[in-house]
Amino acid sequence: MQALSELFAKWPSERRRDVYENASKEQVLRVLDKQILDPMDFLTLLSKSALELLEPIAQKAHSLTLRYFGRAVNLFTPLYISNICTNQCRYCGFNAKNHLTRIHLSVDEAFQEAKALHDVGHRHILLLTGDAPKLSSPSYMADVVRAIKPFFASIGIEVYSLTEQDYAMLVQAGVDNMTMFQETYDPTLYEWLHPVGPKHDYHYRLNAPERAAKAGMRSLGVGALLGLAPYEQDTFATGLHAWWLSRSYPGVDIGISIPRICPHEGEFTVNNAVDDRHFVQYVMALRCFLPRSPITCSTRESAFMRDHLIPLGVTRVSAGVSTAVGGRGSDTQTSEGQFEITDHRSLSQMIQAIHDLGYQAVIKDWEDPTATNSACA
Ligand code: SF4
Repeated sequence: MQALSELFAKWPSERRRDVYENASKEQVLRVLDKQILDPMDFLTLLSKSALELLEPIAQKAHSLTLRYFGRAVNLFTPLYISNICTNQCRYCGFNAKNHLTRIHLSVDEAFQEAKALHDVGHRHILLLTGDAPKLSSPSYMADVVRAIKPFFASIGIEVYSLTEQDYAMLVQAGVDNMTMFQETYDPTLYEWLHPVGPKHDYHYRLNAPERAAKAGMRSLGVGALLGLAPYEQDTFATGLHAWWLSRSYPGVDIGISIPRICPHEGEFTVNNAVDDRHFVQYVMALRCFLPRSPITCSTRESAFMRDHLIPLGVTRVSAGVSTAVGGRGSDTQTSEGQFEITDHRSLSQMIQAIHDLGYQAVIKDWEDPTATNSACA
């Protein structure tokens, strides 16, 4: 398998733009007749012509979703354990320059927060921290994971880029999945968006999912923050990254997250906002290109949008979400959120909504075979 950098080099931005602008409707329809799609087919489904053929693309995306996922929709919830961050990502509310309440939960406080989430029914949890390696160190994360492990069937991380050794330590502690947002796959734009701090290193972040795969992570997720780069650039690059990981690590589950940029504390101008039609086109093109890959839609999106994307390819949604640190356990402080969420539904409301759509809400679809806990039954 060629290296990821070689694959990206074959798809310079001008080539992506050319296919996006010039693919014909006939080419789109030919792609829809294929069983297995290649990267050019994926880009064709992202093209301007494909935007005029959303109905037949929707039919294919729906049929593939049913074929590979049935009517199951997995639920999870995030738990922010620290918002202290040394980076200055221009689009983020936790940017080190923003003035907000900074909280770093102790292991005991994280335990209280996690217990509160467990008590309302959550069994899959995603831990998030800012990028402050001295404070939110890999060993701190491992301590939190070990403490909360009895409550959850699955524990994921969405944290700064780690070494392979650190990922292996977290796998050992009980983490089974990681999500890494590249934010944008345009290296020049990436450098501008991340002017200082460890996150400035584009390639170290780009290669983090591969390090996690080598460290034994069961499941990986990648994604771009839609709205930073032109639509066709980061949507295509995200799919290409996931496709490359799937082929390079066939034993690892490779998923995609699809965040669109949201308002936050501080000022940031969104130059490439992705409208709803393009957003839906992206989800359906992903489903056709990567039919077995889970697609996660967060509460950045409205209840209306999330519900309508489930039949078209989304298989994983969050519920009962807060992007603040603290506030769930009885005696923990709380901070401002990282960004404003749009869908405020609780776990039980989300379960009902999924049921009303004719789908099955799955609280727990996996359990660590080495775990000895029983609290997550
Ligand atoms: S996106 Fe992450 S790394 Fe960047 S400022 Fe926000 S919390 Fe820190």
